[in-house]
Amino acid sequence: MKDYAKYSFWLETAGDSLVPRPSLQRSSEVDVAILGGGYSGLWTAYYLLQANPGLRIAILEKEIVGFGASGRNGGWCSSRFPITPRVLEERFGADAARNLLMAMIDSVDEVGRVCSEEGIAADYRKGGILSLARGAHQLPAIRASHAAYCRLSLGVYFQLLSATECSERVRATNVQGGLYTPKGASLHPGKLVRGLAAAVEKRGAVIYENTEVTKVCPGSNARLITAAGEVRAKRAIILAGEAYLTRLRKYHRALLPMYSLISLTEPLTPAQWAEVGWQNHESLASNRLTVDYLTRTSDGRILFGSRGAPYKFGSRISDDQDVHEPTHTRVHQAVVEWFPSLKGIQFTHNWGGPVGVPRDWMPTVHFDPTSRLGIIAGYTGQGVSTSNLTGRLLATLVAADPSNLENLPFAQRRSPNWEMEPLRWLVVTYMQKAFQRIDDALEGGKPRPLDAKIAETLGRH
Ligand SMILES: Cc1cc2nc3c(=O)[nH]c(=O)nc-3n(C[C@H](O)[C@H](O)[C@H](O)COP(=O)(O)OP(=O)(O)OC[C@H]3O[C@@H](n4cnc5c(N)ncnc54)[C@H](O)[C@@H]3O)c2cc1C
Repeated sequence: MKDYAKYSFWLETAGDSLVPRPSLQRSSEVDVAILGGGYSGLWTAYYLLQANPGLRIAILEKEIVGFGASGRNGGWCSSRFPITPRVLEERFGADAARNLLMAMIDSVDEVGRVCSEEGIAADYRKGGILSLARGAHQLPAIRASHAAYCRLSLGVYFQLLSATECSERVRATNVQGGLYTPKGASLHPGKLVRGLAAAVEKRGAVIYENTEVTKVCPGSNARLITAAGEVRAKRAIILAGEAYLTRLRKYHRALLPMYSLISLTEPLTPAQWAEVGWQNHESLASNRLTVDYLTRTSDGRILFGSRGAPYKFGSRISDDQDVHEPTHTRVHQAVVEWFPSLKGIQFTHNWGGPVGVPRDWMPTVHFDPTSRLGIIAGYTGQGVSTSNLTGRLLATLVAADPSNLENLPFAQRRSPNWEMEPLRWLVVTYMQKAFQRIDDALEGGKPRPLDAKIAETLGRH
């Protein structure tokens, strides 16, 4: 049996043995068959069962519940959407952008509500989100974000902070200002995903683990095929495999798997926390193009995440990419750059996993009642609360049970496919390197590289 605890600190400390549930042994028939035991599949099942407790649901998971990003993420349960407010407004108009962001804000609370209602002890803590300008060059991004929220009449939830106000919250170096919102929580991702699985089982869903779906057959005889048999679905088959969906030939270009990597410190001492501050447990980030995100865990460690592992030709996903030494080394250095008083701190865990990036950065929530095929995917690293919203929406689409969620701009739309190789590799590799060069130049006080505008336009979201 695989040692699933080694895939992340969160799985290691989820509080259960991680022994796989029984796999599918023979063909069967249900109302809804779901590929993927992460948040997307589980939230969809949860809301379907809430609306219709008699529904027969099977969830087929290749590994164990939480093996994917849901058991490995940074613990931000955030009101941020994968697309920035500015771009949302440009693409869909002010009203649609506002409604979507309000729905994201509600989703943060909804995750907390379900945790209390279902007794999921996921260390949910509503500390808000603090986006820091580390260096004067990051101030314009923060001000532009704040202006966009204000234009959408959401300014009441977002507060621009001075450098001094930021340091009253957290004493990180080189902070020139920040944008704070109380609309965000941090949580233990492993406890959430494993607890959610138990909650849907309690409501009657059956979860098969170590059960890989090898073929997806939509249509009047919709079914998910596995080596041991097929699961026929009278109402819907749902694909909730996120980055891993790209391993099925038909969905190979639907998303781009991009690795996000995390390092975790040992627990800080009370004296170290006194130096760092961060008493309110905000989810922290700077405004680097290459992304950084920090969480104060409930047991007093610092989680620091970043992108940086190179995209692999052909959208390859493999365990050996879960750790990328150069990126983890840079993350270790970054922790001490942010908090010099932590010089010498030990790092106990390094891990990572693929996030699913859609070609247009917009999540897909689509259900076709004729083919009975549903797809829910594409969060670009912002899926903890977003998958609650998309799961609720997909449940209403499958049940044909109207709610105001169908008016959200991602309802019933699908993203275009990514380019074929080698073009995909060339563009993504260029973008990754360009973003790193831009960050390095600006942080080193050098002028922006000549191609900065091109890279930023290509990566605008
Ligand atoms: C390192 C990292 C940090 C992140 N940090 C954050 C964060 O702080 N906040 C945030 O909001 N988001 C974050 N994310 C993103 C977030 O975790 C994801 O968007 C979210 O978990 C996606 O959930 P999911 O259920 O769609 O996909 P997953 O959790 O990836 O689940 C998909 C499941 O499908 C299974 N599967 C795939 N193919 C098959 C098949 N053929 N047969 C059977 N099973 C299959 C997989 O094994 C997997 O368990 C992060 C992601 C990573 C990797």
